[in-house]
Amino acid sequence: MSRAACTAQQALEKLKAGNARYINVKTGEGDVSPALRLKTCTEGQAPYAVIVTCSDSRVIPESIFSAGIGELFVIRVAGNVIDDHQLGSIEYAAEHLGCRLVLVMGHDHCGAVDAAIHHETENYIRYITDEIKKAIGDEQDDYKACCLNVRHSVRRIEESLEIRQEEEHGLRVCGALYHLADGRVEFLDDLQSSGGGLGAAAADTLVSAVSEESAFRRYFLVDYENVNREGLNGIAKLTETDCVKIYYSSAAETLTFGLHRRINGSKAHFTYTKVKIQIKNAVDCQILFDLQGLVKENRDAEYSIVSKDTDFDKTIASFVEHRFHVKRVVHVGASAEQLKAERKLTKEEAFFEEHFQKKKYTEKRAEILEILRTGKTRQQINNRLMKLYEGQTVKEMFKILQPIIKDLPGK
Ligand SMILES: [Zn+2]
Repeated sequence: MSRAACTAQQALEKLKAGNARYINVKTGEGDVSPALRLKTCTEGQAPYAVIVTCSDSRVIPESIFSAGIGELFVIRVAGNVIDDHQLGSIEYAAEHLGCRLVLVMGHDHCGAVDAAIHHETENYIRYITDEIKKAIGDEQDDYKACCLNVRHSVRRIEESLEIRQEEEHGLRVCGALYHLADGRVEFLDDLQSSGGGLGAAAADTLVSAVSEESAFRRYFLVDYENVNREGLNGIAKLTETDCVKIYYSSAAETLTFGLHRRINGSKAHFTYTKVKIQIKNAVDCQILFDLQGLVKENRDAEYSIVSKDTDFDKTIASFVEHRFHVKRVVHVGASAEQLKAERKLTKEEAFFEEHFQKKKYTEKRAEILEILRTGKTRQQINNRLMKLYEGQTVKEMFKILQPIIKDLPGK
């Protein structure tokens, strides 16, 4: 099956031209500057992670992770399968370069996985598809098969003796799935090791555990690190049809007796997920990954991410676009109206939550609230807002603000 777009010679020239462009321009998010190139050449490399991923031309680890020179130690092989050569590379990165995270990143619509499911293969390709077949068994679903394949590679890495020894030095192996269409990376492991082997949870848990939990009417996914126990305000009002999923990390893992009592007193179903992976936003990623699994199982339920972190909002908007009922709240007790009634929020805060949901506002929430709280006249509020935004935006804000500033002096 030859579908070559150009000859080997042409391809080589293309690579050279591509490399020439790479040398002369600085593009993308990662630092590929000549200075860094020289620095890493003379001082050596210290990549922060090993990425094991597919050779698929649509999966570009450095771009995907906005990484530049010297940041990622990348091992690519069709179907991200693992054998001795890959293990040797990982071992090298761990022992000699100091990498502490190995991410096995599969992707959806993977040709290698597809071939293993649907086609008889021959020659050398068989080495790859046979390995994938071992991983996926009879699974026919593309997404699940890709997850299982990742999990298999994760296990292969973990089971190698050298890697196990490295575990004591903090080396962690986890799985992820890259989505070709929207560029999103789903992290499949929370690196929770119960007994032997890391990441035992992996794909299976994430694919099937949500099925057991799919019977609820409302779900609250609590970013505990962000909202802490205040995020659970309102749990007394929940019912048997509510499920509260608490996500935390070692940075926030204490429960007070008072809170414990409140949780026991609640009728809702509680689950706890400790996210151990030491990367930025690991808790957020886990929440979004679980949310994605849940909405697939139970389309009609209502989902609330409990967090003050406005970074969630963009992703939530895309869920809403697909007509899932997802929103962000600052505590389980939910909507702005309720919050007002409970007097958990000041008048200004409740107003803000209700009317200023756009990112351009939420990212300056603290400043705006301070202005609303302390502004003595309309003119003063106007002047202070002008320091944050341009005139047109302030004009819009003033229109929105009418109900709560109409009694203030000034025009
Ligand atoms: Zn692939």
